Amino acid sequence: MDLTDNSILTIGKHKFKLLKNVPKEYLITIYENQNPFCPYLLKYVNKNIEQIKHKVAQIEEPICSKQAYFNEKIAKQILFEINNQTQKHKKPIRVYECDKCGNYHLTSKPLTDYD
Ligand SMILES: [Zn+2]
Repeated sequence: MDLTDNSILTIGKHKFKLLKNVPKEYLITIYENQNPFCPYLLKYVNKNIEQIKHKVAQIEEPICSKQAYFNEKIAKQILFEINNQTQKHKKPIRVYECDKCGNYHLTSKPLTDYD
């Protein structure tokens, strides 16, 4: 199995993101550490490291720093899972489509506060 830019990560902290939407710093870290936690991902990173580094140099605006999901169904599934967990901090209440990165984020803001 070879991963491409349009493969969906199934492991790690960027699970459910398209590889092209995963922060490049994350991929570079995997490359630098030769982190074998996901052999397919390491293979992809080793193969594309020049391209990845090139893209980092090219970034014009900051990548959305919030956790992003590439489709609404997955975002809602994650929202549902979070709301079934016990945690102390504020829970997200809804999913919205981001006009910066085109992915879906979770937010704890009511709809009226949406920026
Ligand atoms: Zn975004």
